[in-house]
Amino acid sequence: MRDVAFFIEAAGKKAGEKDFFALKEQVKTIPEIYPASLHQYEKSFLFLVKEKAAKKLIVTGDSSLFRELEGKEQSTSDVCFKECPLSADNSKIIRQYFPFTRPVPLSKYKTTIGLGDRLGVASPGHIRLLKHKNIRPVLAQQSKRELALTGRSFRGVLSDAVWAVFQEDYREGFGADGDHLKTKEDIKEALAEGYTMITLDCSEHIHDLKPTDKGEIERIYQAFPQEKKRALEAYFLRRKFTLKSGESLSFTPDDLRYNVAIYQSAVDFTVAVFHELIAPRSGEVDFEVSIDETTASTHPLGHFFVAAQLMEAGVKVDSMAPRFCGEFQKGVDYRGNKEQFTREFREHQRIAEHFGYKLSIHSGSDKFSVFPIIGRESKGVFHLKTAGTNWLEAVRVIIRTVPELYRRIHAFALTRLEEAKKYYHISADPAAVPPVSSLTDEELTTLLDKDDARQIIHITYGEILQAQDAEGNYLFRDDIYRCLLVNENLYFQFLHDHIGRHLEKLGVT
Ligand code: ZN
Repeated sequence: MRDVAFFIEAAGKKAGEKDFFALKEQVKTIPEIYPASLHQYEKSFLFLVKEKAAKKLIVTGDSSLFRELEGKEQSTSDVCFKECPLSADNSKIIRQYFPFTRPVPLSKYKTTIGLGDRLGVASPGHIRLLKHKNIRPVLAQQSKRELALTGRSFRGVLSDAVWAVFQEDYREGFGADGDHLKTKEDIKEALAEGYTMITLDCSEHIHDLKPTDKGEIERIYQAFPQEKKRALEAYFLRRKFTLKSGESLSFTPDDLRYNVAIYQSAVDFTVAVFHELIAPRSGEVDFEVSIDETTASTHPLGHFFVAAQLMEAGVKVDSMAPRFCGEFQKGVDYRGNKEQFTREFREHQRIAEHFGYKLSIHSGSDKFSVFPIIGRESKGVFHLKTAGTNWLEAVRVIIRTVPELYRRIHAFALTRLEEAKKYYHISADPAAVPPVSSLTDEELTTLLDKDDARQIIHITYGEILQAQDAEGNYLFRDDIYRCLLVNENLYFQFLHDHIGRHLEKLGVT
Protein backbone atom coordinates (compact mmCIF):
# COMPACT_ATOMS: atom_id res chain seq x y z
CA MET A 1 0.00 0.00 0.00
CA ARG A 2 3.08 2.26 0.07
CA ASP A 3 2.64 2.87 -3.64
CA VAL A 4 -0.90 4.03 -2.96
CA ALA A 5 0.33 6.52 -0.35
CA PHE A 6 2.89 7.90 -2.80
CA PHE A 7 0.24 8.20 -5.47
CA ILE A 8 -2.07 10.09 -3.12
CA GLU A 9 0.79 12.49 -2.39
CA ALA A 10 1.47 12.94 -6.08
CA ALA A 11 -2.20 13.51 -6.90
CA GLY A 12 -2.63 15.90 -3.97
CA LYS A 13 0.16 18.15 -5.17
CA LYS A 14 -1.07 18.38 -8.75
CA ALA A 15 -4.09 19.99 -10.24
CA GLY A 16 -3.81 20.69 -13.97
CA GLU A 17 -4.82 19.01 -17.22
CA LYS A 18 -1.25 17.97 -17.96
CA ASP A 19 -0.92 16.50 -14.49
CA PHE A 20 -3.89 14.28 -15.19
CA PHE A 21 -2.13 12.59 -18.10
CA ALA A 22 1.03 12.14 -16.06
CA LEU A 23 -0.96 10.57 -13.24
CA LYS A 24 -2.81 8.39 -15.73
CA GLU A 25 0.54 6.86 -16.72
CA GLN A 26 1.74 6.55 -13.16
CA VAL A 27 -1.44 4.85 -11.91
CA LYS A 28 -0.99 1.92 -14.29
CA THR A 29 1.95 0.72 -12.20
CA ILE A 30 0.00 0.46 -8.93
CA PRO A 31 -1.94 -2.79 -8.66
CA GLU A 32 -4.19 -1.61 -5.80
CA ILE A 33 -5.65 1.24 -7.84
CA TYR A 34 -8.11 0.71 -10.70
CA PRO A 35 -6.40 2.66 -13.48
CA ALA A 36 -9.58 3.59 -15.39
CA SER A 37 -11.11 4.96 -12.18
CA LEU A 38 -8.81 8.00 -12.16
CA HIS A 39 -10.96 11.06 -12.82
CA GLN A 40 -10.50 14.77 -12.43
CA TYR A 41 -12.91 17.49 -11.37
CA GLU A 42 -11.37 20.97 -11.17
CA LYS A 43 -8.57 20.71 -8.59
CA SER A 44 -9.65 17.27 -7.37
CA PHE A 45 -8.45 13.86 -8.47
CA LEU A 46 -10.51 10.79 -7.67
CA PHE A 47 -9.73 7.09 -7.90
CA LEU A 48 -10.79 3.74 -6.49
CA VAL A 49 -8.49 1.69 -4.33
CA LYS A 50 -8.88 -1.98 -3.56
CA GLU A 51 -8.14 -3.06 -0.01
CA LYS A 52 -8.43 -6.49 1.55
CA ALA A 53 -11.96 -6.08 2.82
CA ALA A 54 -13.48 -3.43 0.54
CA LYS A 55 -13.00 -0.87 -2.17
CA LYS A 56 -12.89 2.82 -1.32
CA LEU A 57 -12.79 6.13 -3.14
CA ILE A 58 -9.89 8.52 -2.61
CA VAL A 59 -10.40 12.18 -3.43
CA THR A 60 -7.75 14.87 -3.28
CA GLY A 61 -7.64 18.65 -3.84
CA ASP A 62 -10.13 21.19 -2.62
CA SER A 63 -13.31 21.52 -4.72
CA SER A 64 -17.06 21.48 -4.16
CA LEU A 65 -16.95 17.79 -5.04
CA PHE A 66 -14.27 17.16 -2.39
CA ARG A 67 -16.38 18.94 0.20
CA GLU A 68 -19.62 17.18 -0.74
CA LEU A 69 -18.38 13.60 -0.70
CA GLU A 70 -18.78 11.91 2.67
CA GLY A 71 -15.66 10.36 4.09
CA LYS A 72 -12.78 10.53 6.50
CA GLU A 73 -10.59 13.57 5.94
CA GLN A 74 -6.90 12.79 6.33
CA SER A 75 -3.68 14.60 5.80
CA THR A 76 -0.01 13.92 5.38
CA SER A 77 2.64 16.62 5.84
CA ASP A 78 1.94 17.91 2.31
CA VAL A 79 -1.54 17.02 1.23
CA CYS A 80 -5.05 16.62 2.44
CA PHE A 81 -7.31 13.90 1.08
CA LYS A 82 -10.54 12.08 1.82
CA GLU A 83 -11.22 8.36 2.07
CA CYS A 84 -14.81 7.76 1.07
CA PRO A 85 -16.95 4.62 1.25
CA LEU A 86 -18.63 3.45 -1.97
CA SER A 87 -21.99 4.30 -0.45
CA ALA A 88 -25.28 5.08 -2.16
CA ASP A 89 -25.10 8.71 -0.98
CA ASN A 90 -21.64 9.16 -2.45
CA SER A 91 -22.74 7.50 -5.69
CA LYS A 92 -25.48 10.13 -6.01
CA ILE A 93 -22.87 12.87 -5.78
CA ILE A 94 -20.72 11.11 -8.37
CA ARG A 95 -23.74 10.96 -10.68
CA GLN A 96 -24.19 14.73 -10.37
CA TYR A 97 -20.57 15.52 -11.22
CA PHE A 98 -19.94 12.81 -13.83
CA PRO A 99 -22.98 12.54 -16.13
CA PHE A 100 -21.69 9.39 -17.83
CA THR A 101 -22.31 7.50 -14.57
CA ARG A 102 -26.06 8.19 -14.75
CA PRO A 103 -28.26 5.40 -16.14
CA VAL A 104 -30.02 6.22 -19.40
CA PRO A 105 -32.91 4.80 -21.44
CA LEU A 106 -31.61 2.33 -24.03
CA SER A 107 -34.53 1.91 -26.44
CA LYS A 108 -32.66 3.60 -29.28
CA TYR A 109 -30.09 0.80 -29.27
CA LYS A 110 -30.88 -2.28 -31.34
CA THR A 111 -29.39 -4.88 -29.05
CA THR A 112 -29.52 -4.74 -25.27
CA ILE A 113 -28.79 -7.20 -22.52
CA GLY A 114 -29.87 -7.26 -18.88
CA LEU A 115 -27.04 -8.39 -16.64
CA GLY A 116 -28.62 -8.70 -13.22
CA ASP A 117 -25.84 -8.63 -10.65
CA ARG A 118 -27.26 -10.14 -7.50
CA LEU A 119 -24.14 -9.56 -5.44
CA GLY A 120 -23.30 -6.15 -6.87
CA VAL A 121 -19.74 -7.10 -7.82
CA ALA A 122 -20.04 -8.45 -11.38
CA SER A 123 -20.62 -5.26 -13.38
CA PRO A 124 -16.94 -4.30 -13.93
CA GLY A 125 -16.44 -7.72 -15.55
CA HIS A 126 -19.52 -7.22 -17.73
CA ILE A 127 -18.34 -3.77 -18.76
CA ARG A 128 -14.90 -5.04 -19.76
CA LEU A 129 -16.57 -7.58 -22.03
CA LEU A 130 -19.13 -5.23 -23.60
CA LYS A 131 -16.98 -2.12 -24.08
CA HIS A 132 -16.95 -1.14 -27.76
CA LYS A 133 -19.39 -3.90 -28.75
CA ASN A 134 -22.68 -3.32 -30.55
CA ILE A 135 -24.77 -3.94 -27.47
CA ARG A 136 -25.73 -1.91 -24.42
CA PRO A 137 -26.08 -3.30 -20.92
CA VAL A 138 -28.70 -2.89 -18.26
CA LEU A 139 -26.38 -3.19 -15.28
CA ALA A 140 -28.85 -2.54 -12.47
CA GLN A 141 -31.65 -5.07 -12.86
CA GLN A 142 -33.38 -6.66 -9.93
CA SER A 143 -36.94 -7.70 -9.31
CA LYS A 144 -38.64 -7.10 -5.96
CA ARG A 145 -38.30 -10.82 -5.36
CA GLU A 146 -34.54 -10.68 -5.91
CA LEU A 147 -34.20 -7.61 -3.69
CA ALA A 148 -36.07 -9.38 -0.91
CA LEU A 149 -34.03 -12.57 -1.29
CA THR A 150 -30.65 -10.82 -1.32
CA GLY A 151 -31.55 -8.18 1.29
CA ARG A 152 -30.71 -5.33 -1.11
CA SER A 153 -32.62 -2.24 -2.30
CA PHE A 154 -33.21 -0.39 -5.58
CA ARG A 155 -30.91 2.32 -4.25
CA GLY A 156 -28.07 -0.04 -3.38
CA VAL A 157 -28.28 -1.98 -6.62
CA LEU A 158 -28.07 1.18 -8.73
CA SER A 159 -25.28 2.55 -6.55
CA ASP A 160 -23.18 -0.59 -7.13
CA ALA A 161 -23.68 -0.25 -10.89
CA VAL A 162 -22.69 3.42 -10.79
CA TRP A 163 -19.43 2.60 -8.96
CA ALA A 164 -18.64 -0.07 -11.54
CA VAL A 165 -19.19 2.42 -14.37
CA PHE A 166 -16.98 4.97 -12.61
CA GLN A 167 -14.31 2.36 -11.91
CA GLU A 168 -14.18 1.25 -15.54
CA ASP A 169 -14.76 4.72 -17.03
CA TYR A 170 -17.55 3.25 -19.15
CA ARG A 171 -19.01 6.07 -21.21
CA GLU A 172 -21.24 4.22 -23.67
CA GLY A 173 -24.40 4.30 -21.56
CA PHE A 174 -26.09 1.76 -19.32
CA GLY A 175 -29.64 1.13 -18.15
CA ALA A 176 -31.28 0.51 -14.77
CA ASP A 177 -34.32 -1.77 -14.81
CA GLY A 178 -36.88 -2.04 -12.04
CA ASP A 179 -37.57 -5.59 -13.10
CA HIS A 180 -40.85 -7.48 -12.83
CA LEU A 181 -42.62 -4.77 -10.85
CA LYS A 182 -46.25 -5.52 -10.08
CA THR A 183 -47.51 -2.44 -8.27
CA LYS A 184 -47.57 1.32 -8.74
CA GLU A 185 -45.80 1.75 -5.38
CA ASP A 186 -42.82 -0.33 -6.50
CA ILE A 187 -42.64 1.52 -9.81
CA LYS A 188 -42.72 4.89 -8.04
CA GLU A 189 -39.93 3.76 -5.75
CA ALA A 190 -37.71 2.60 -8.66
CA LEU A 191 -38.36 5.81 -10.61
CA ALA A 192 -37.59 7.95 -7.58
CA GLU A 193 -34.23 6.19 -7.31
CA GLY A 194 -33.44 7.10 -10.91
CA TYR A 195 -34.23 3.85 -12.72
CA THR A 196 -34.50 4.30 -16.48
CA MET A 197 -36.44 1.18 -17.35
CA ILE A 198 -39.58 -0.29 -15.86
CA THR A 199 -40.64 -3.84 -16.54
CA LEU A 200 -44.28 -4.11 -15.68
CA ASP A 201 -45.20 -7.61 -14.59
CA CYS A 202 -48.84 -8.13 -15.50
CA SER A 203 -49.11 -11.64 -14.12
CA GLU A 204 -51.51 -10.75 -11.31
CA HIS A 205 -53.95 -9.40 -13.89
CA ILE A 206 -53.69 -12.32 -16.31
CA HIS A 207 -56.06 -15.29 -16.08
CA ASP A 208 -53.97 -18.30 -16.94
CA LEU A 209 -56.71 -20.10 -18.93
CA LYS A 210 -56.79 -22.91 -21.46
CA PRO A 211 -59.17 -22.76 -24.49
CA THR A 212 -61.11 -25.63 -22.87
CA ASP A 213 -61.93 -23.58 -19.75
CA LYS A 214 -65.17 -22.54 -21.48
CA GLY A 215 -67.21 -21.72 -18.39
CA GLU A 216 -64.53 -19.57 -16.83
CA ILE A 217 -63.88 -17.74 -20.11
CA GLU A 218 -67.55 -16.93 -20.51
CA ARG A 219 -67.92 -15.81 -16.88
CA ILE A 220 -64.97 -13.40 -17.08
CA TYR A 221 -66.03 -12.10 -20.48
CA GLN A 222 -69.56 -11.38 -19.36
CA ALA A 223 -68.37 -9.54 -16.28
CA PHE A 224 -66.96 -6.70 -18.45
CA PRO A 225 -69.37 -3.77 -19.00
CA GLN A 226 -71.59 -4.00 -22.05
CA GLU A 227 -70.03 -0.92 -23.59
CA LYS A 228 -66.51 -2.32 -23.29
CA LYS A 229 -67.50 -5.62 -24.90
CA ARG A 230 -69.20 -3.79 -27.77
CA ALA A 231 -66.10 -1.69 -28.38
CA LEU A 232 -63.82 -4.74 -28.33
CA GLU A 233 -66.09 -6.63 -30.71
CA ALA A 234 -66.25 -3.66 -33.07
CA TYR A 235 -62.49 -3.35 -33.05
CA PHE A 236 -61.42 -7.00 -33.34
CA LEU A 237 -64.18 -8.89 -35.16
CA ARG A 238 -65.03 -9.09 -38.88
CA ARG A 239 -61.76 -7.58 -39.99
CA LYS A 240 -58.34 -8.63 -41.10
CA PHE A 241 -55.25 -7.12 -39.50
CA THR A 242 -52.35 -7.00 -41.90
CA LEU A 243 -48.90 -6.77 -40.41
CA LYS A 244 -46.17 -4.71 -42.05
CA SER A 245 -44.51 -8.00 -43.03
CA GLY A 246 -47.61 -8.88 -45.10
CA GLU A 247 -49.03 -11.65 -42.90
CA SER A 248 -52.54 -11.18 -41.62
CA LEU A 249 -54.39 -12.06 -38.45
CA SER A 250 -58.05 -12.26 -37.61
CA PHE A 251 -60.17 -13.10 -34.58
CA THR A 252 -63.17 -15.40 -34.39
CA PRO A 253 -65.71 -14.52 -31.67
CA ASP A 254 -64.25 -17.41 -29.62
CA ASP A 255 -60.71 -16.09 -30.06
CA LEU A 256 -61.84 -12.70 -28.87
CA ARG A 257 -63.61 -14.03 -25.76
CA TYR A 258 -60.66 -16.20 -24.90
CA ASN A 259 -58.14 -13.35 -25.18
CA VAL A 260 -60.37 -10.89 -23.34
CA ALA A 261 -60.69 -13.41 -20.50
CA ILE A 262 -56.93 -13.93 -20.30
CA TYR A 263 -55.52 -10.47 -20.99
CA GLN A 264 -58.09 -7.68 -20.79
CA SER A 265 -57.50 -6.84 -17.13
CA ALA A 266 -53.75 -6.82 -17.78
CA VAL A 267 -54.25 -4.46 -20.73
CA ASP A 268 -56.38 -2.06 -18.67
CA PHE A 269 -53.84 -2.17 -15.83
CA THR A 270 -50.95 -1.48 -18.20
CA VAL A 271 -52.73 1.47 -19.81
CA ALA A 272 -53.43 3.00 -16.39
CA VAL A 273 -49.86 2.49 -15.13
CA PHE A 274 -48.39 3.94 -18.31
CA HIS A 275 -50.45 7.11 -18.32
CA GLU A 276 -50.00 7.77 -14.63
CA LEU A 277 -46.31 6.93 -14.16
CA ILE A 278 -44.43 6.46 -17.42
CA ALA A 279 -45.94 9.02 -19.83
CA PRO A 280 -44.96 12.00 -17.61
CA ARG A 281 -41.34 10.84 -18.04
CA SER A 282 -41.60 10.40 -21.77
CA GLY A 283 -38.18 9.77 -23.33
CA GLU A 284 -36.52 9.21 -19.94
CA VAL A 285 -37.79 5.73 -19.16
CA ASP A 286 -38.01 2.56 -21.23
CA PHE A 287 -41.23 0.66 -20.72
CA GLU A 288 -41.31 -3.13 -20.93
CA VAL A 289 -44.52 -5.11 -20.69
CA SER A 290 -44.14 -8.64 -19.43
CA ILE A 291 -46.85 -11.22 -19.99
CA ASP A 292 -44.49 -14.16 -19.61
CA GLU A 293 -45.38 -15.55 -16.20
CA THR A 294 -48.02 -17.98 -17.40
CA THR A 295 -48.08 -21.76 -17.66
CA ALA A 296 -49.18 -21.77 -21.31
CA SER A 297 -47.01 -20.08 -23.93
CA THR A 298 -48.31 -16.80 -25.36
CA HIS A 299 -50.19 -17.39 -28.60
CA PRO A 300 -49.21 -14.84 -31.27
CA LEU A 301 -52.87 -13.83 -31.49
CA GLY A 302 -52.81 -13.06 -27.76
CA HIS A 303 -49.65 -11.02 -28.19
CA PHE A 304 -51.29 -9.04 -30.98
CA PHE A 305 -54.47 -8.58 -28.91
CA VAL A 306 -52.48 -6.98 -26.09
CA ALA A 307 -50.19 -4.89 -28.29
CA ALA A 308 -52.94 -3.53 -30.55
CA GLN A 309 -54.89 -2.19 -27.59
CA LEU A 310 -51.84 -0.68 -25.94
CA MET A 311 -51.03 1.18 -29.15
CA GLU A 312 -54.63 2.36 -29.55
CA ALA A 313 -54.48 3.71 -25.99
CA GLY A 314 -51.28 5.63 -26.71
CA VAL A 315 -48.99 3.41 -24.67
CA LYS A 316 -45.42 3.57 -25.94
CA VAL A 317 -43.99 0.09 -25.49
CA ASP A 318 -40.22 -0.32 -25.83
CA SER A 319 -40.12 -4.06 -25.29
CA MET A 320 -42.54 -6.92 -24.72
CA ALA A 321 -41.86 -10.24 -23.06
CA PRO A 322 -44.20 -13.00 -24.21
CA ARG A 323 -43.97 -16.49 -22.74
CA PHE A 324 -42.26 -18.51 -25.48
CA CYS A 325 -43.05 -22.15 -26.15
CA GLY A 326 -40.88 -24.83 -24.55
CA GLU A 327 -39.19 -24.26 -21.23
CA PHE A 328 -37.00 -21.33 -20.27
CA GLN A 329 -35.82 -22.63 -16.95
CA LYS A 330 -33.31 -20.71 -14.90
CA GLY A 331 -29.65 -21.21 -15.67
CA VAL A 332 -29.93 -24.10 -18.14
CA ASP A 333 -30.33 -24.53 -21.89
CA TYR A 334 -33.65 -24.33 -23.72
CA ARG A 335 -35.87 -27.36 -23.39
CA GLY A 336 -38.43 -27.89 -26.11
CA ASN A 337 -39.00 -28.23 -29.81
CA LYS A 338 -36.64 -25.92 -31.67
CA GLU A 339 -38.66 -25.98 -34.91
CA GLN A 340 -41.76 -24.87 -33.06
CA PHE A 341 -39.74 -22.26 -31.20
CA THR A 342 -38.39 -20.88 -34.48
CA ARG A 343 -41.87 -20.69 -35.98
CA GLU A 344 -43.44 -18.98 -32.99
CA PHE A 345 -40.51 -16.68 -32.34
CA ARG A 346 -40.82 -15.51 -35.95
CA GLU A 347 -44.51 -14.75 -35.48
CA HIS A 348 -43.87 -12.83 -32.27
CA GLN A 349 -41.04 -10.99 -33.99
CA ARG A 350 -43.34 -9.88 -36.84
CA ILE A 351 -45.82 -8.51 -34.33
CA ALA A 352 -43.08 -6.69 -32.42
CA GLU A 353 -41.74 -5.22 -35.67
CA HIS A 354 -45.21 -4.17 -36.73
CA PHE A 355 -45.72 -2.17 -33.54
CA GLY A 356 -42.13 -0.99 -33.36
CA TYR A 357 -40.70 -2.55 -30.22
CA LYS A 358 -38.23 -5.26 -29.24
CA LEU A 359 -38.97 -8.73 -28.02
CA SER A 360 -37.58 -9.29 -24.56
CA ILE A 361 -36.38 -12.76 -23.66
CA HIS A 362 -36.63 -13.49 -19.95
CA SER A 363 -34.66 -16.19 -18.14
CA GLY A 364 -32.45 -15.68 -21.16
CA SER A 365 -29.16 -16.97 -19.81
CA ASP A 366 -27.62 -20.22 -20.99
CA LYS A 367 -30.12 -20.80 -23.85
CA PHE A 368 -27.27 -21.62 -26.18
CA SER A 369 -29.24 -23.89 -28.51
CA VAL A 370 -31.76 -21.16 -29.42
CA PHE A 371 -29.46 -18.10 -29.33
CA PRO A 372 -28.61 -18.41 -33.04
CA ILE A 373 -32.36 -18.51 -33.82
CA ILE A 374 -33.05 -15.44 -31.66
CA GLY A 375 -30.15 -13.51 -33.21
CA ARG A 376 -31.12 -14.40 -36.77
CA GLU A 377 -34.90 -14.04 -36.61
CA SER A 378 -34.76 -10.74 -34.74
CA LYS A 379 -31.99 -9.39 -36.98
CA GLY A 380 -30.23 -8.42 -33.79
CA VAL A 381 -33.13 -6.39 -32.41
CA PHE A 382 -33.82 -7.84 -28.98
CA HIS A 383 -33.45 -7.46 -25.24
CA LEU A 384 -32.16 -10.51 -23.39
CA LYS A 385 -32.33 -10.77 -19.60
CA THR A 386 -29.87 -12.71 -17.53
CA ALA A 387 -29.24 -12.66 -13.79
CA GLY A 388 -28.67 -15.89 -11.93
CA THR A 389 -26.05 -17.11 -14.35
CA ASN A 390 -23.76 -14.31 -13.13
CA TRP A 391 -24.21 -15.61 -9.59
CA LEU A 392 -23.34 -19.12 -10.77
CA GLU A 393 -20.09 -17.83 -12.23
CA ALA A 394 -19.35 -16.28 -8.84
CA VAL A 395 -19.94 -19.67 -7.24
CA ARG A 396 -17.49 -21.20 -9.70
CA VAL A 397 -14.88 -18.79 -8.37
CA ILE A 398 -15.61 -19.96 -4.83
CA ILE A 399 -15.31 -23.60 -5.88
CA ARG A 400 -12.01 -22.92 -7.58
CA THR A 401 -10.44 -20.83 -4.82
CA VAL A 402 -12.05 -21.84 -1.51
CA PRO A 403 -13.52 -25.32 -2.10
CA GLU A 404 -14.11 -25.80 1.61
CA LEU A 405 -16.48 -22.79 1.63
CA TYR A 406 -18.33 -24.20 -1.34
CA ARG A 407 -18.75 -27.58 0.36
CA ARG A 408 -20.48 -25.84 3.27
CA ILE A 409 -22.65 -23.77 0.94
CA HIS A 410 -23.63 -26.85 -1.03
CA ALA A 411 -24.67 -28.83 2.05
CA PHE A 412 -26.70 -25.87 3.25
CA ALA A 413 -28.37 -25.29 -0.15
CA LEU A 414 -29.66 -28.85 -0.20
CA THR A 415 -31.46 -28.26 3.09
CA ARG A 416 -33.17 -25.11 1.74
CA LEU A 417 -34.25 -26.35 -1.66
CA GLU A 418 -37.92 -26.79 -0.84
CA GLU A 419 -38.07 -23.22 0.47
CA ALA A 420 -36.47 -21.82 -2.68
CA LYS A 421 -38.77 -23.81 -4.97
CA LYS A 422 -41.64 -21.63 -3.75
CA TYR A 423 -40.12 -18.75 -5.75
CA TYR A 424 -38.59 -20.52 -8.71
CA HIS A 425 -39.84 -23.25 -10.97
CA ILE A 426 -37.10 -25.76 -11.76
CA SER A 427 -37.00 -29.46 -12.43
CA ALA A 428 -33.67 -30.19 -10.75
CA ASP A 429 -33.37 -33.51 -8.97
CA PRO A 430 -31.14 -33.33 -5.88
CA ALA A 431 -30.72 -37.12 -6.03
CA ALA A 432 -28.93 -36.70 -9.37
CA VAL A 433 -26.22 -34.57 -7.77
CA PRO A 434 -23.32 -36.61 -6.39
CA PRO A 435 -22.59 -36.06 -2.69
CA VAL A 436 -19.85 -33.45 -2.63
CA SER A 437 -17.97 -35.40 0.05
CA SER A 438 -17.29 -38.01 -2.62
CA LEU A 439 -15.73 -35.47 -4.99
CA THR A 440 -12.15 -34.23 -4.98
CA ASP A 441 -11.57 -30.47 -5.20
CA GLU A 442 -10.65 -30.98 -8.84
CA GLU A 443 -13.88 -32.88 -9.55
CA LEU A 444 -15.83 -30.17 -7.77
CA THR A 445 -14.80 -27.60 -10.39
CA THR A 446 -17.00 -29.23 -13.04
CA LEU A 447 -19.99 -29.76 -10.75
CA LEU A 448 -21.78 -26.67 -12.04
CA ASP A 449 -21.58 -27.96 -15.61
CA LYS A 450 -24.46 -30.30 -14.69
CA ASP A 451 -27.99 -28.93 -14.85
CA ASP A 452 -29.24 -30.37 -11.56
CA ALA A 453 -26.45 -28.86 -9.48
CA ARG A 454 -26.65 -25.57 -11.43
CA GLN A 455 -30.31 -25.16 -10.74
CA ILE A 456 -30.06 -26.00 -7.05
CA ILE A 457 -27.38 -23.36 -6.48
CA HIS A 458 -29.12 -20.99 -8.88
CA ILE A 459 -32.34 -20.73 -6.90
CA THR A 460 -31.04 -20.99 -3.32
CA TYR A 461 -28.96 -17.79 -3.54
CA GLY A 462 -31.26 -15.88 -1.20
CA GLU A 463 -31.12 -18.56 1.48
CA ILE A 464 -27.34 -18.78 1.14
CA LEU A 465 -26.75 -15.04 1.31
CA GLN A 466 -29.06 -14.37 4.24
CA ALA A 467 -28.28 -17.38 6.45
CA GLN A 468 -27.11 -16.36 9.93
CA ASP A 469 -25.96 -18.15 13.05
CA ALA A 470 -27.56 -17.72 16.48
CA GLU A 471 -25.53 -14.54 17.14
CA GLY A 472 -26.67 -12.94 13.91
CA ASN A 473 -23.40 -13.45 11.99
CA TYR A 474 -23.74 -14.35 8.37
CA LEU A 475 -22.87 -17.98 7.67
CA PHE A 476 -21.60 -17.35 4.14
CA ARG A 477 -22.27 -13.79 2.96
CA ASP A 478 -19.11 -12.11 4.24
CA ASP A 479 -16.91 -15.01 3.16
CA ILE A 480 -18.45 -14.92 -0.31
CA TYR A 481 -17.83 -11.20 -0.75
CA ARG A 482 -14.27 -11.50 0.55
CA CYS A 483 -13.51 -14.39 -1.79
CA LEU A 484 -14.88 -12.50 -4.80
CA LEU A 485 -12.95 -9.34 -4.01
CA VAL A 486 -9.67 -11.18 -3.54
CA ASN A 487 -10.26 -13.19 -6.72
CA GLU A 488 -12.08 -10.58 -8.76
CA ASN A 489 -9.91 -10.95 -11.83
CA LEU A 490 -10.76 -14.63 -11.96
CA TYR A 491 -14.45 -13.73 -11.62
CA PHE A 492 -14.20 -11.19 -14.43
CA GLN A 493 -12.46 -13.80 -16.57
CA PHE A 494 -15.26 -16.32 -15.95
CA LEU A 495 -17.90 -13.71 -16.80
CA HIS A 496 -15.98 -12.69 -19.89
CA ASP A 497 -15.92 -16.28 -21.13
CA HIS A 498 -19.46 -17.20 -20.14
CA ILE A 499 -21.37 -14.09 -21.21
CA GLY A 500 -19.00 -13.80 -24.15
CA ARG A 501 -20.25 -17.19 -25.33
CA HIS A 502 -23.81 -15.84 -25.13
CA LEU A 503 -22.91 -12.88 -27.36
CA GLU A 504 -21.10 -15.06 -29.83
CA LYS A 505 -24.09 -17.40 -30.30
CA LEU A 506 -26.45 -14.42 -30.53
CA GLY A 507 -24.32 -12.95 -33.29
CA VAL A 508 -23.35 -9.80 -31.35
CA THR A 509 -20.05 -8.30 -32.49
ZN1 ZN B 1 -40.19 -12.71 -16.81
